Amino acid sequence: MGRCLQRELPTKGTGGNARASRAWKGEQPGVDLARRRRMRRPNPGPDLGGFILHMLSFDAQAPTLCDTLGRPLRSLRLSVTDRCNLRCQYCMPEEEYVWLPREDLLTLEETAQLARIFVESGVRKIRLTGGEPLLRRNLSHLVELLASIRGLHELALTTNGVLLAQHAPALRAAGLQRLTISLDTLRPERFRALAGRDSLAEVLAGIRAAADAGFTGTKLDSVLLRGTNDDELFDLLAFGREHGVEVRFLEYMDVAGATRWTIKQVVTKAEILAKLTQRFGRVEPLSENGSAPAQRFCLPDGTTFGIIASTSAPFCRTCDRSRLTADGLWFLCLYAIRGLDLRGPLRGGASPEAIRHLIQQAWRQRDDRGAELRRELPDRRAFIPLEGLRRDPHLEMHTRGG
Ligand code: SAM
Ligand code: SF4
Ligand code: SF4
Repeated sequence: MGRCLQRELPTKGTGGNARASRAWKGEQPGVDLARRRRMRRPNPGPDLGGFILHMLSFDAQAPTLCDTLGRPLRSLRLSVTDRCNLRCQYCMPEEEYVWLPREDLLTLEETAQLARIFVESGVRKIRLTGGEPLLRRNLSHLVELLASIRGLHELALTTNGVLLAQHAPALRAAGLQRLTISLDTLRPERFRALAGRDSLAEVLAGIRAAADAGFTGTKLDSVLLRGTNDDELFDLLAFGREHGVEVRFLEYMDVAGATRWTIKQVVTKAEILAKLTQRFGRVEPLSENGSAPAQRFCLPDGTTFGIIASTSAPFCRTCDRSRLTADGLWFLCLYAIRGLDLRGPLRGGASPEAIRHLIQQAWRQRDDRGAELRRELPDRRAFIPLEGLRRDPHLEMHTRGG
C-alpha cells in the first residue's frame, strides 16, 4: 500500500472547500471532532478562512503508520470495563468470571491520555466498548475528554442498550457521535435465554431514547446463531426499517469467550443473502469503504443492511483496528494472545513521546491476521477453553472489547 509512507494530503481543487462547507453542517465524518465542536460555535472569529485552513492542514502533517502488511493504524476500540450486565451465550456464557483488579483499571484521565497518544500516532476513529461500556461510571466525562482530542474524526460507542435510555442524552451532549446497539432477538423469552437476563424492554427503550437524544446513523448488531435466533432474520430487518436503524448481521465468531462455539451454529453471509434473495428478490451490494468490516446491501424496497462475515470471509487484509483493555493492555488483533502493556509506562512516568514510540514500534511489526488463520484450521473448535480464560481474563472478548 503506497499510501503508508506518504503524508495525508488535503483534497485538491474544490474538494477541500466542499469538505469544509459540509463540516460546518456537521455532515463530514472525515473532520475531527474537536474541530466540529468548535465549528458549531456561532462566531468562530474574524479570520474565518485562515481558521479553516489551519484546521484542515492538521491531517496533512501526519505520516501514516503501517504494519508489515501495509495496514494503517486507524481505528481503536477502547474497552472501559470488563464487566457486563448481560450474559450472552456467545460471549459470556458463565455467571462468574475472573475480573480485572479495580486498582489496575485506567482512570478516565489516563484513558484519555493514552487515546491522545494513539490519535497522534494515526488513529482517527475511537469506539468505546467493553464489557458493557455504560456500566463505567462517569462515561460522559470520558466522552467529553475524547471529543476534545484534535485529529480524532469519529467517536462511537457499542452498547447492549440496557442502560441507554438513562445515558443517551448526556452522551450526546458530551460529544458522542454514533451508536451501535446489539440486539439479537425481539422475543422476550428468547432474550432471557440468549442474554441470561430479562432486559429486552430496557433495550427497546434504549433504542427509542437514542433517536430522541438526536443520534442518527445508529446501527443494530445481531449475531445470528443457527437454531437459536436465525428465524428472526426478516423480523430484525423489519424492526430496523421501522425504527430508522440499519441492521448488521454478525457471523458467530470463535473468539476467546465463545467457549460454546461450533461451526454448525454459524449462519454465513452466503446463507443470509440466499434467504433474503428468496424472500425479497435481488439483493444489491452497495459500494464499500475499504477497511469497514461490514459489507452493505440493499433490498428492492430500499432497505439497507450490513453483514459482518468475520468467520466465513475475514477482512484481516484491510484490518486497521486494535484494542486497548480497561487496564491498559494493547492488543493488535482480536485473536492475539499477548498485548502490550501501556499502563506500566504511563504510571511509571514515561513521556507521551516514549509511549508513542512503543506504539509505533509495535504496529510496524504487526503481522496478525487471526480470523484468516482460524479459517484455515481443519478441525475448528472453541479458541481457548474455559480454564485458559480463567488463568488469563485478558484473552476474553469482553475484556479486550468486541
Ligand atoms: N456489551 C456491548 C454490546 O454487546 O454491544 C459491547 C461489547 S460486545 C463484546 C461487542 C459486540 O461483540 C457485540 O455486538 C456482540 O454481539 C459482539 N460479539 C460478542 N461475542 C461475539 C461472538 N462470539 N461472535 C460474534 N460477535 C460477538
Ligand atoms: Fe455483555 Fe456485550 Fe458480551 Fe453480551 S456481547 S455478554 S452484552 S459484553
Ligand atoms: Fe483484524 Fe485480527 Fe479481526 Fe483479522 S482477526 S480482522 S487482523 S482484529
